[in-house]
Amino acid sequence: MTFHAIIVAGGSGSRSGGKKQWMLLGGRPVLDWSIAAFEEAGAAQIVVVVPDEDISQAESAYGDRATFVAGGTDRAQSVRNGLSALRGDPNDAVLIHDAARPLLKLHHINALLAELETKPAAILALPVTDSLKRGDQNRIVESPPRDNLWRAQTPQAFRLHDIRRAYDRWPTNDTPTDEAMVAAHAGINVTLVEGDIRLHKLTYLSDFAFLDALINSDKPMKQMRIGQGFDAHRWGDGQSVWLCGVEIPHNKTLIGHSDADAGLHALTDALLGAASLGDIGDHFPPTDPQWKGASSDLFLQHAANLIRQHGGEIVNVDVTLICENPKIKPHREAMRQRVAAILAIDLDRVSVKATTTEKMGFTGREEGLAAQAVCAIML
Ligand code: MG
Repeated sequence: MTFHAIIVAGGSGSRSGGKKQWMLLGGRPVLDWSIAAFEEAGAAQIVVVVPDEDISQAESAYGDRATFVAGGTDRAQSVRNGLSALRGDPNDAVLIHDAARPLLKLHHINALLAELETKPAAILALPVTDSLKRGDQNRIVESPPRDNLWRAQTPQAFRLHDIRRAYDRWPTNDTPTDEAMVAAHAGINVTLVEGDIRLHKLTYLSDFAFLDALINSDKPMKQMRIGQGFDAHRWGDGQSVWLCGVEIPHNKTLIGHSDADAGLHALTDALLGAASLGDIGDHFPPTDPQWKGASSDLFLQHAANLIRQHGGEIVNVDVTLICENPKIKPHREAMRQRVAAILAIDLDRVSVKATTTEKMGFTGREEGLAAQAVCAIML
Protein backbone atom coordinates (compact mmCIF):
# COMPACT_ATOMS: atom_id res chain seq x y z
CA MET A 1 0.00 0.00 0.00
CA THR A 2 1.40 3.41 -0.95
CA PHE A 3 1.60 5.56 2.13
CA HIS A 4 2.80 9.00 3.16
CA ALA A 5 3.83 10.41 6.51
CA ILE A 6 3.11 13.69 8.22
CA ILE A 7 5.31 14.37 11.24
CA VAL A 8 4.04 17.11 13.50
CA ALA A 9 7.06 18.83 15.08
CA GLY A 10 5.55 22.20 15.75
CA GLY A 11 5.84 22.36 19.51
CA SER A 12 7.32 25.37 21.26
CA GLY A 13 8.67 23.07 23.97
CA SER A 14 7.49 25.19 26.87
CA ARG A 15 7.27 22.18 29.21
CA SER A 16 10.57 20.53 28.26
CA GLY A 17 12.69 23.68 28.34
CA GLY A 18 13.37 23.80 24.60
CA LYS A 19 12.12 22.72 21.22
CA LYS A 20 11.98 18.96 21.66
CA GLN A 21 12.35 18.18 17.97
CA TRP A 22 15.92 19.53 17.98
CA MET A 23 17.02 18.15 21.36
CA LEU A 24 19.25 15.09 21.35
CA LEU A 25 18.04 11.63 22.25
CA GLY A 26 20.50 8.74 22.06
CA GLY A 27 22.90 11.14 20.32
CA ARG A 28 20.45 12.09 17.53
CA PRO A 29 17.97 14.97 17.22
CA VAL A 30 14.51 13.82 18.27
CA LEU A 31 13.09 14.53 14.80
CA ASP A 32 15.70 12.31 13.16
CA TRP A 33 14.25 9.17 14.77
CA SER A 34 10.81 9.50 13.21
CA ILE A 35 12.11 10.51 9.78
CA ALA A 36 14.40 7.45 9.77
CA ALA A 37 11.55 5.12 10.78
CA PHE A 38 9.30 6.33 7.96
CA GLU A 39 12.20 6.10 5.48
CA GLU A 40 12.85 2.51 6.55
CA ALA A 41 9.17 1.69 6.09
CA GLY A 42 9.22 3.09 2.56
CA ALA A 43 7.03 6.20 2.89
CA ALA A 44 6.42 7.78 -0.53
CA GLN A 45 6.51 11.32 0.91
CA ILE A 46 7.49 12.57 4.34
CA VAL A 47 6.11 15.99 5.26
CA VAL A 48 7.31 17.55 8.50
CA VAL A 49 5.42 20.44 10.07
CA VAL A 50 7.75 22.74 12.02
CA PRO A 51 7.45 26.27 13.40
CA ASP A 52 7.90 28.82 10.63
CA GLU A 53 11.16 30.11 12.09
CA ASP A 54 12.69 26.60 12.03
CA ILE A 55 12.15 25.85 8.34
CA SER A 56 15.57 26.93 7.08
CA GLN A 57 17.35 25.02 9.86
CA ALA A 58 15.22 21.94 9.13
CA GLU A 59 15.79 22.11 5.39
CA SER A 60 19.55 22.41 5.74
CA ALA A 61 19.59 19.34 8.03
CA TYR A 62 16.98 17.14 6.37
CA GLY A 63 15.98 18.85 3.10
CA ASP A 64 16.94 15.80 1.04
CA ARG A 65 14.86 13.45 3.19
CA ALA A 66 11.62 15.32 3.87
CA THR A 67 9.49 18.29 2.86
CA PHE A 68 9.06 20.98 5.50
CA VAL A 69 6.00 23.15 5.92
CA ALA A 70 5.21 25.80 8.48
CA GLY A 71 2.90 24.97 11.37
CA GLY A 72 -0.29 26.80 12.14
CA THR A 73 -1.62 28.47 15.23
CA ASP A 74 -2.75 25.13 16.67
CA ARG A 75 -2.27 21.44 16.04
CA ALA A 76 -5.30 21.17 13.74
CA GLN A 77 -4.01 23.93 11.48
CA SER A 78 -0.54 22.35 11.49
CA VAL A 79 -1.96 19.04 10.30
CA ARG A 80 -4.12 20.82 7.71
CA ASN A 81 -0.93 22.47 6.38
CA GLY A 82 0.77 19.08 6.25
CA LEU A 83 -2.15 17.53 4.38
CA SER A 84 -2.12 20.39 1.85
CA ALA A 85 1.54 19.72 1.10
CA LEU A 86 0.97 16.04 0.32
CA ARG A 87 0.71 14.94 -3.29
CA GLY A 88 -0.58 11.48 -4.04
CA ASP A 89 -3.60 9.41 -4.85
CA PRO A 90 -6.63 10.16 -2.64
CA ASN A 91 -6.79 6.47 -1.80
CA ASP A 92 -3.19 6.38 -0.51
CA ALA A 93 -2.67 5.96 3.20
CA VAL A 94 -1.33 8.73 5.38
CA LEU A 95 0.22 8.19 8.82
CA ILE A 96 0.15 11.26 11.05
CA HIS A 97 2.74 11.16 13.81
CA ASP A 98 4.05 13.29 16.67
CA ALA A 99 7.79 13.93 16.47
CA ALA A 100 7.64 13.81 20.27
CA ARG A 101 7.18 10.01 20.07
CA PRO A 102 10.60 9.26 18.57
CA LEU A 103 10.99 5.54 19.25
CA LEU A 104 8.82 4.65 16.29
CA LYS A 105 9.65 1.29 14.76
CA LEU A 106 8.92 -0.40 11.46
CA HIS A 107 6.56 -2.88 13.13
CA HIS A 108 4.35 -0.06 14.45
CA ILE A 109 3.97 1.34 10.94
CA ASN A 110 3.37 -2.08 9.41
CA ALA A 111 0.70 -2.94 12.00
CA LEU A 112 -1.25 0.20 11.07
CA LEU A 113 -0.88 -0.35 7.31
CA ALA A 114 -2.08 -3.94 7.72
CA GLU A 115 -5.18 -2.68 9.55
CA LEU A 116 -5.90 -0.17 6.78
CA GLU A 117 -6.20 -3.04 4.29
CA THR A 118 -9.64 -3.73 5.71
CA LYS A 119 -10.50 -0.76 7.97
CA PRO A 120 -10.93 2.94 7.15
CA ALA A 121 -8.72 4.21 9.97
CA ALA A 122 -6.51 2.89 12.77
CA ILE A 123 -4.49 4.33 15.62
CA LEU A 124 -2.02 2.93 18.11
CA ALA A 125 -3.27 3.08 21.70
CA LEU A 126 -2.68 1.48 25.08
CA PRO A 127 -5.39 0.33 27.50
CA VAL A 128 -5.59 2.45 30.64
CA THR A 129 -4.34 0.36 33.56
CA ASP A 130 -4.15 2.98 36.33
CA SER A 131 -7.21 3.98 38.35
CA LEU A 132 -8.62 7.26 37.11
CA LYS A 133 -9.43 10.24 39.34
CA ARG A 134 -11.04 13.53 38.62
CA GLY A 135 -9.64 16.20 40.92
CA ASP A 136 -10.81 19.56 42.10
CA GLN A 137 -7.40 21.10 42.80
CA ASN A 138 -5.87 18.09 44.60
CA ARG A 139 -9.11 16.74 46.07
CA ILE A 140 -10.66 13.69 44.41
CA VAL A 141 -14.21 14.38 43.36
CA GLU A 142 -14.81 11.37 41.13
CA SER A 143 -13.27 8.01 40.18
CA PRO A 144 -14.44 7.40 36.62
CA PRO A 145 -14.40 3.73 35.51
CA ARG A 146 -11.41 2.91 33.34
CA ASP A 147 -13.17 0.08 31.47
CA ASN A 148 -12.73 0.38 27.72
CA LEU A 149 -10.54 3.44 28.08
CA TRP A 150 -7.41 3.71 25.97
CA ARG A 151 -4.57 6.20 25.76
CA ALA A 152 -4.16 7.31 22.15
CA GLN A 153 -0.67 7.34 20.67
CA THR A 154 0.64 8.05 17.21
CA PRO A 155 1.03 7.30 14.34
CA GLN A 156 -2.65 7.48 13.39
CA ALA A 157 -3.48 6.06 9.98
CA PHE A 158 -6.14 7.12 7.47
CA ARG A 159 -6.92 7.24 3.77
CA LEU A 160 -5.83 10.60 2.42
CA HIS A 161 -9.28 11.55 1.10
CA ASP A 162 -10.96 10.53 4.38
CA ILE A 163 -8.82 12.61 6.68
CA ARG A 164 -8.92 15.62 4.32
CA ARG A 165 -12.71 15.43 4.25
CA ALA A 166 -12.79 15.02 8.04
CA TYR A 167 -10.67 18.14 8.57
CA ASP A 168 -12.92 20.06 6.16
CA ARG A 169 -15.83 19.24 8.48
CA TRP A 170 -14.00 19.97 11.74
CA PRO A 171 -14.98 23.37 13.21
CA THR A 172 -12.08 25.79 12.89
CA ASN A 173 -12.73 27.28 16.33
CA ASP A 174 -12.18 23.94 18.08
CA THR A 175 -8.83 22.22 18.71
CA PRO A 176 -8.72 18.41 18.56
CA THR A 177 -6.05 16.62 20.60
CA ASP A 178 -5.52 14.07 17.85
CA GLU A 179 -6.64 13.11 14.35
CA ALA A 180 -8.82 10.24 15.59
CA MET A 181 -11.15 12.86 17.12
CA VAL A 182 -11.43 14.62 13.80
CA ALA A 183 -12.07 11.38 11.93
CA ALA A 184 -14.68 10.16 14.43
CA HIS A 185 -16.43 13.54 14.24
CA ALA A 186 -16.77 12.97 10.48
CA GLY A 187 -18.30 9.54 11.06
CA ILE A 188 -15.22 7.48 10.23
CA ASN A 189 -14.78 4.30 12.28
CA VAL A 190 -11.34 4.29 13.87
CA THR A 191 -9.82 0.96 14.96
CA LEU A 192 -7.63 0.68 18.05
CA VAL A 193 -4.36 -1.20 17.51
CA GLU A 194 -2.28 -2.20 20.53
CA GLY A 195 0.38 0.48 20.98
CA ASP A 196 3.72 0.41 22.75
CA ILE A 197 5.17 1.99 25.87
CA ARG A 198 8.14 2.88 23.64
CA LEU A 199 5.91 5.42 21.91
CA HIS A 200 5.77 7.39 25.15
CA LYS A 201 5.51 11.11 24.41
CA LEU A 202 8.35 13.45 25.30
CA THR A 203 6.70 16.20 27.32
CA TYR A 204 8.94 16.92 30.29
CA LEU A 205 12.73 16.79 30.53
CA SER A 206 12.41 13.66 32.69
CA ASP A 207 10.83 11.89 29.70
CA PHE A 208 14.18 12.07 27.93
CA ALA A 209 15.79 10.01 30.70
CA PHE A 210 12.98 7.46 30.44
CA LEU A 211 13.38 7.06 26.66
CA ASP A 212 17.18 6.96 27.01
CA ALA A 213 16.75 4.02 29.41
CA LEU A 214 14.50 2.26 26.87
CA ILE A 215 17.10 2.81 24.12
CA ASN A 216 19.83 1.36 26.34
CA SER A 217 17.68 -1.63 27.24
CA ASP A 218 17.40 -2.40 23.50
CA LYS A 219 21.14 -2.91 23.29
CA PRO A 220 22.14 -6.55 23.70
CA MET A 221 23.66 -7.34 27.09
CA LYS A 222 27.33 -8.20 26.93
CA GLN A 223 28.24 -11.61 28.23
CA MET A 224 31.39 -12.95 29.78
CA ARG A 225 33.11 -15.36 27.40
CA ILE A 226 36.25 -17.42 27.93
CA GLY A 227 38.87 -18.62 25.50
CA GLN A 228 41.81 -20.98 25.75
CA GLY A 229 44.89 -21.51 23.61
CA PHE A 230 47.82 -23.87 23.43
CA ASP A 231 51.09 -23.78 21.50
CA ALA A 232 54.43 -25.60 21.44
CA HIS A 233 57.68 -24.99 19.59
CA ARG A 234 60.83 -27.08 19.23
CA TRP A 235 64.18 -26.00 20.70
CA GLY A 236 67.06 -25.37 18.26
CA ASP A 237 70.45 -23.68 18.21
CA GLY A 238 70.47 -20.06 19.27
CA GLN A 239 71.41 -17.45 21.85
CA SER A 240 68.07 -16.08 22.95
CA VAL A 241 64.38 -16.86 23.01
CA TRP A 242 61.26 -14.69 22.76
CA LEU A 243 58.63 -15.49 25.40
CA CYS A 244 55.57 -13.35 26.12
CA GLY A 245 57.05 -10.50 24.11
CA VAL A 246 60.36 -10.43 26.00
CA GLU A 247 63.73 -11.56 24.61
CA ILE A 248 65.56 -13.74 27.13
CA PRO A 249 69.24 -14.77 26.74
CA HIS A 250 69.39 -18.58 26.51
CA ASN A 251 71.62 -21.23 24.99
CA LYS A 252 68.81 -22.33 22.66
CA THR A 253 66.04 -20.71 20.68
CA LEU A 254 62.58 -21.81 19.64
CA ILE A 255 62.16 -22.77 16.00
CA GLY A 256 59.18 -21.40 14.09
CA HIS A 257 58.03 -19.42 11.09
CA SER A 258 57.61 -16.23 13.09
CA ASP A 259 59.58 -15.40 16.24
CA ALA A 260 58.14 -18.64 17.73
CA ASP A 261 56.87 -16.88 20.88
CA ALA A 262 54.71 -19.75 22.09
CA GLY A 263 53.35 -17.68 25.00
CA LEU A 264 51.95 -14.97 22.73
CA HIS A 265 50.73 -17.54 20.22
CA ALA A 266 48.77 -19.41 22.88
CA LEU A 267 47.35 -16.12 24.16
CA THR A 268 46.40 -14.94 20.65
CA ASP A 269 44.51 -18.20 20.12
CA ALA A 270 42.78 -17.80 23.48
CA LEU A 271 41.51 -14.32 22.54
CA LEU A 272 40.39 -15.41 19.07
CA GLY A 273 38.70 -18.42 20.64
CA ALA A 274 36.83 -16.31 23.19
CA ALA A 275 35.34 -14.28 20.35
CA SER A 276 34.83 -17.33 18.07
CA LEU A 277 37.04 -15.68 15.46
CA GLY A 278 38.99 -18.71 14.30
CA ASP A 279 42.65 -19.31 15.17
CA ILE A 280 46.02 -17.70 14.63
CA GLY A 281 46.63 -19.82 11.51
CA ASP A 282 43.50 -18.36 9.85
CA HIS A 283 44.65 -14.81 10.39
CA PHE A 284 48.41 -15.30 9.88
CA PRO A 285 48.95 -18.38 7.68
CA PRO A 286 52.45 -19.87 8.24
CA THR A 287 52.65 -20.35 4.46
CA ASP A 288 52.48 -16.56 3.95
CA PRO A 289 56.04 -15.20 3.57
CA GLN A 290 55.12 -11.82 5.07
CA TRP A 291 54.93 -13.43 8.55
CA LYS A 292 58.40 -15.03 8.32
CA GLY A 293 60.32 -13.85 11.37
CA ALA A 294 57.42 -11.58 12.34
CA SER A 295 57.15 -10.27 15.88
CA SER A 296 54.26 -12.07 17.57
CA ASP A 297 53.25 -8.72 19.12
CA LEU A 298 51.47 -8.12 15.81
CA PHE A 299 49.39 -11.27 16.13
CA LEU A 300 48.33 -10.51 19.68
CA GLN A 301 47.53 -6.88 18.91
CA HIS A 302 45.45 -7.95 15.90
CA ALA A 303 43.37 -10.31 18.05
CA ALA A 304 42.80 -7.58 20.66
CA ASN A 305 41.79 -5.10 17.96
CA LEU A 306 39.35 -7.59 16.45
CA ILE A 307 37.66 -8.07 19.82
CA ARG A 308 37.32 -4.30 20.25
CA GLN A 309 35.99 -3.90 16.72
CA HIS A 310 33.29 -6.42 17.62
CA GLY A 311 32.37 -4.30 20.65
CA GLY A 312 34.16 -6.49 23.16
CA GLU A 313 36.63 -5.78 25.94
CA ILE A 314 39.29 -7.96 27.52
CA VAL A 315 38.68 -8.77 31.17
CA ASN A 316 41.86 -10.73 32.01
CA VAL A 317 44.43 -13.06 30.55
CA ASP A 318 46.51 -15.81 32.15
CA VAL A 319 49.47 -17.50 30.42
CA THR A 320 51.36 -20.58 31.63
CA LEU A 321 54.78 -21.38 30.13
CA ILE A 322 55.84 -25.02 30.45
CA CYS A 323 59.60 -25.62 30.31
CA GLU A 324 62.59 -26.72 32.38
CA ASN A 325 64.74 -23.85 31.08
CA PRO A 326 65.14 -20.94 30.86
CA LYS A 327 63.94 -19.94 34.32
CA ILE A 328 60.94 -17.68 33.81
CA LYS A 329 60.55 -16.11 37.22
CA PRO A 330 63.21 -13.37 36.77
CA HIS A 331 61.41 -12.23 33.62
CA ARG A 332 57.79 -12.59 34.71
CA GLU A 333 57.16 -8.96 35.56
CA ALA A 334 58.69 -7.78 32.30
CA MET A 335 56.46 -10.26 30.44
CA ARG A 336 53.33 -9.08 32.24
CA GLN A 337 54.14 -5.47 31.45
CA ARG A 338 54.80 -6.25 27.80
CA VAL A 339 51.56 -8.23 27.39
CA ALA A 340 49.56 -5.49 29.15
CA ALA A 341 51.10 -2.91 26.83
CA ILE A 342 50.36 -4.91 23.67
CA LEU A 343 46.78 -5.54 24.77
CA ALA A 344 46.37 -1.97 26.12
CA ILE A 345 44.87 -3.24 29.39
CA ASP A 346 45.83 -2.72 33.03
CA LEU A 347 48.73 -4.72 34.45
CA ASP A 348 46.52 -6.29 37.13
CA ARG A 349 44.54 -8.02 34.37
CA VAL A 350 47.61 -9.90 33.11
CA SER A 351 49.08 -13.01 34.67
CA VAL A 352 52.15 -14.93 33.47
CA LYS A 353 53.09 -18.17 35.25
CA ALA A 354 55.55 -20.96 34.60
CA THR A 355 55.87 -24.61 35.51
CA THR A 356 57.99 -27.61 34.65
CA THR A 357 56.80 -31.14 33.95
CA GLU A 358 59.37 -32.71 36.34
CA LYS A 359 61.57 -33.73 33.40
CA MET A 360 58.74 -35.81 31.88
CA GLY A 361 57.53 -35.55 28.32
CA PHE A 362 58.83 -33.35 25.49
CA THR A 363 59.13 -30.30 27.67
CA GLY A 364 60.85 -32.31 30.41
CA ARG A 365 63.36 -33.73 27.95
CA GLU A 366 63.83 -30.15 26.67
CA GLU A 367 62.83 -31.03 23.12
CA GLY A 368 60.48 -28.10 23.12
CA LEU A 369 58.56 -25.52 25.13
CA ALA A 370 54.77 -25.41 25.52
CA ALA A 371 52.46 -22.62 26.53
CA GLN A 372 48.83 -22.45 27.40
CA ALA A 373 46.62 -19.45 27.95
CA VAL A 374 43.12 -18.59 29.04
CA CYS A 375 41.29 -15.29 28.86
CA ALA A 376 37.95 -13.78 29.67
CA ILE A 377 36.30 -11.12 27.55
CA MET A 378 33.00 -9.24 27.65
CA LEU A 379 31.27 -9.46 24.28
MG1 MG B 1 53.25 -20.99 17.50
